[in-house]
Amino acid sequence: MERIRVLLSGAAGKMGREVVRALFLEKDMVLVGAYDQREIGQDVGNLAGIGAVGIKVESDLEKVVVEGNPQVVCDFTHADALRENLPRFLAHRLHLVIGTTGLSLLELEKLRKDCEVQNLGCMVAPNFALGAVLMMHFARLAARYFKHAEIIEYHHPQKKDAPSGTALKTAEGMEKEGIVLEDKGQELVPGARGGQYHGLTIHSVRLPGFVAHQEVIFGGEGQILTIRHDSLNRSSFMPGVMMAIRKVVHEPRFYYGLDAILEL
Ligand code: NAP
Repeated sequence: MERIRVLLSGAAGKMGREVVRALFLEKDMVLVGAYDQREIGQDVGNLAGIGAVGIKVESDLEKVVVEGNPQVVCDFTHADALRENLPRFLAHRLHLVIGTTGLSLLELEKLRKDCEVQNLGCMVAPNFALGAVLMMHFARLAARYFKHAEIIEYHHPQKKDAPSGTALKTAEGMEKEGIVLEDKGQELVPGARGGQYHGLTIHSVRLPGFVAHQEVIFGGEGQILTIRHDSLNRSSFMPGVMMAIRKVVHEPRFYYGLDAILEL
């Protein structure tokens, strides 16, 4: 069986290290390159805590692509880094699995068109955790019946963007079901009532101890419904990432959100 050759962008990051651990448990995939701007020259296996695997972190994208001949790139970096690297990934005709959050809807639309023109597979998923995808699905369902809702998302303080990509995607889905935006009232402290996006109010908490968590709270006459998901560690994202790698290679289309490849 021919294994899927994967290039990992952001290999030295928190998610990147988790992807390294996960890839080495898969029989049908092989890591052929590790790209990052830090820990250059370090063995990614050592960084990931699984012992040396013979793949060193490189800062030269062209070199990693030429030497590893990857089919797909899996990106967990930052939005600005991704913006810079995307044209290069596309120029090398790499299928894409993008976990990095922070691209705008306009940028995603352009990426969709670019992938279609080049016949490349691409999965952009703000959240690869199955439970989080189900949370978004249940929130959409509940939004048909409860017209008042707000979102609170909680992440570790190193997270660079706010609100989270998951919160944005949740809001986009719920807006279609017709949520009513509450009046902000008089904010004595600016931002006290959160930010508004696609007709939903979103509050972002950043504190040590959190990984990735979200609550969607629905208020109704005499009742409150709370739908909550907690990613307790980064391994929660890995089954979704592996599923996406297979999908973009075997059925190369543009997918937005893990739900696009699940039967919900
Ligand atoms: P992180 O620990 O900061 O890792 C990002 C890595 O990318 C760092 O090693 C960073 O290096 C590196 N990098 C920066 N610029 C680069 C460039 N131009 N080329 C290559 N590598 C570059 O962050 P993380 O917690 O792993 O999160 C990464 C991304 O995944 C974030 O956007 C986060 O929101 C997202 N995320 C998505 C999911 C999901 O399910 N979709 C889940 C968790 C996180 P420096 O530190 O030197 O900048």
